[in-house]
Amino acid sequence: MEDQSILVRDADIWNENRFTRGSILIEKGRIKRIARRIVADSVETINASGLKALPGLIDVHVHLRDMGLAFKEDFATGTAAAAAGGFTTVLDMPNTIPPTDSASRLIEKQKVAAQKTYVNVGFHAAAVSDSHEIDALAGAGAFSLKLYLPKPIAPFDVESDGAIEKMMRAAARVNTLVTVHAEDLSATENTSPGDGFEELAAARSPILETRAVDRLVRIQKKARCNVHYCHLTLRSSLVNISSSSKSTSEVTPHHLLLSKKLLSSLGWRAWMVPPLRSEETRRSLLRSMVTGLASVIASDHAPHTITEKDQGASKSPPGVPGLETTFPLMLTMVNRQQMTFSLLVKLLCQNPARIFGLKSKAKLRVGADGDLVLVDMKKESRIDSSRFFSKAKFSPFDGFKTKGAVHATIAGGRVVYRDGEIVAREGSGAVLRRGFSG
Ligand SMILES: [Zn+2]
Repeated sequence: MEDQSILVRDADIWNENRFTRGSILIEKGRIKRIARRIVADSVETINASGLKALPGLIDVHVHLRDMGLAFKEDFATGTAAAAAGGFTTVLDMPNTIPPTDSASRLIEKQKVAAQKTYVNVGFHAAAVSDSHEIDALAGAGAFSLKLYLPKPIAPFDVESDGAIEKMMRAAARVNTLVTVHAEDLSATENTSPGDGFEELAAARSPILETRAVDRLVRIQKKARCNVHYCHLTLRSSLVNISSSSKSTSEVTPHHLLLSKKLLSSLGWRAWMVPPLRSEETRRSLLRSMVTGLASVIASDHAPHTITEKDQGASKSPPGVPGLETTFPLMLTMVNRQQMTFSLLVKLLCQNPARIFGLKSKAKLRVGADGDLVLVDMKKESRIDSSRFFSKAKFSPFDGFKTKGAVHATIAGGRVVYRDGEIVAREGSGAVLRRGFSG
């Protein structure tokens, strides 16, 4: 690891719920000093006057693809997108080719990623039924076991409460989280091949989420397992799980800001699962997030090629890229006084770090990891997917006006992104393993 020393001068630094003017010296990957004035010679200096310094953002739900799916995205393009979006740490999902369903495959993925990543990257693994494999996955640093109810990533009897309980008990024993995609497709209404996106969305109604959450909460209680509920779309789901200290929730910018009426105009550009909901449901989710009912905002960055997406509703793979849109959209909400900085830092830094055991992250303090993002709150722009670093050059947010932009992203004590460009070397980021990351 090469040692780069960086002095961030005259920023408004986020600390203990407020901003204080000062400078930050980063050495050997960690924050060395924070003071009103720091004099340091022959150090790369960023004049951050007029900029806000926040802890680097953590996205706990991304699909970086790579390996067999590198035509959609790879570790370099996906983590470049992360850096451009202010994220210094991302946790990648296991539904890849090959799937991350064993310790040996997890280790292989960690090796490939180490050569390419620009930011810190960790990996979720697939939920598997073999308890020995769960032990091995935890030992290799898996950040969670992902249970994808609609279609298991590795062979798994998702219909069986007993199988889920057994898996959750094994996960709890090795202190590993279970992450879940909570949609009960056994109750889906039938669709026919000629149906459009609106019909497909209607067939995956909110009741499927409610049923799955109810079921998983029940099993989770018996197994005494920590469960993180991915991309919830309903206020009632957030209320349901908020009663348990072992449950955490995640919401996405698309479910907070977009509703299903867009499906008629945007089609595949707005197709993801769970699908966009009604305007009323969206508003109540947004109100719930703003009042602190959700634990985490994650992008569910899910890149595909436009050729794959644009081949009719029945064949279009669900998912939209989100790493480069999430932060500008949330900063816009802060600028409009629809949410506070304090909540933003909680949902995009502090809670993700706490839930996924990233102890030395999400704080601007001496000794913490040198992960931070410099933000220009006055900069206005428009979301333009043709300029994404991600290979997926489309977005349901195309054309949205934003106020508040990333000026620079520093990960592991290295400037990765500055002024519209990636300035670090491919592979300069770190691979994180749960339980080994400080
Ligand atoms: Zn996902």
